[in-house]
Amino acid sequence: MRPTELFEKALCGASAGICIRHDVPMSEYTSFRVGGTVPLMAIPSNEEEAALCVKAAADSRCTALWVGNGTNLLFEDGRLDFAVIHTGQMRGIEVKGNTVEAMCGASMAAAAAAARDASLQGLEFAHGIPGSLGGGVFMNAGAYGSSLSDRVSRSLCADPSGELVCLDAGSHGFSYRHSSIMDNGYTVLRTTLELEPGDRGVIAEKMTELRQRRQSSQPLDMPSAGSTFKRPPEGYAAALIEQAGLKGCRLGGAQVSEKHAGFIVNRGGATFADITGLMRLVRQRVYENSGVMLENEVQIINREGRAWNF
Ligand SMILES: Cc1cc2nc3c(=O)[nH]c(=O)nc-3n(C[C@H](O)[C@H](O)[C@H](O)COP(=O)(O)OP(=O)(O)OC[C@H]3O[C@@H](n4cnc5c(N)ncnc54)[C@H](O)[C@@H]3O)c2cc1C
Repeated sequence: MRPTELFEKALCGASAGICIRHDVPMSEYTSFRVGGTVPLMAIPSNEEEAALCVKAAADSRCTALWVGNGTNLLFEDGRLDFAVIHTGQMRGIEVKGNTVEAMCGASMAAAAAAARDASLQGLEFAHGIPGSLGGGVFMNAGAYGSSLSDRVSRSLCADPSGELVCLDAGSHGFSYRHSSIMDNGYTVLRTTLELEPGDRGVIAEKMTELRQRRQSSQPLDMPSAGSTFKRPPEGYAAALIEQAGLKGCRLGGAQVSEKHAGFIVNRGGATFADITGLMRLVRQRVYENSGVMLENEVQIINREGRAWNF
């Protein structure tokens, strides 16, 4: 039996409630609209089911990748040889005093809106980031000078064997677009964000202002995964790409956005090879032009379900 079949068997034995889908095209689950087909997708609806998924994957030695809103992911094309665990049914959000506590599949926009509605400030920056809270904690999402690491007070996680672990703020290992969850194979199930009382009108105004800044500078009408590369210590990736003369540069269906050179967009029909080929070209030309080697921000996932880098 293949590991994904063993995984399905273990899941069915452990819980009848976990929704399972077969032969799922990942292009439908990523904002890039690119990616091949996974044989199996498990969709837990609560933390208990999510932990069972982790344990079942470990017991069956099946590679199972967690996917939230798919806004920072690029999957290889063709038949993919791993399973996906999708957090789309884990969206609960609760406001308790000055905290917002949300399940991993809650969108950052919904968490920020819940904070605003409870007159809590500090999460306005996250309103326009299109990912889930779990995906955001994984890579310490941020914008406009703030990041989730400023607000996370604790997370309930599953370790790679499916045991529940509680992380306090300092145990997330946060740095710029990085957390220790990227290295230790934990899954974020629920996160608590510590905020401050504020004025609802002022909070709403700030969100609107940030949304307008995004709309005027980013190609939000085209499929992408946001910033392709991390901000290097030497400056902004977009400026370095523009200085290398690459704004608008195309490879197949992939293009360095004409609106924001930090984004690669799918102009229609872009393949994994088009996007990774363009990323390679950008890295090489920027290096030749400025001596800066850009680092990928987008998580590239190969056929075996492993994060892959150039
Ligand atoms: C138009 C656009 C604008 C963007 N702007 C920003 C921005 O301003 N700032 C910013 O930081 N990012 C931005 N992004 C990128 C993206 O939204 C963030 O990286 C976001 O945090 C990804 O969340 P997600 O749910 O989509 O994660 P996914 O893309 O689904 O997954 C990303 C990674 O997180 C892992 N993961 C997902 N859920 C969990 C979990 N529960 N536990 C453990 N690991 C998990 C996945 O395995 C994967 O490796 C933008 C993207 C787009 C398309």
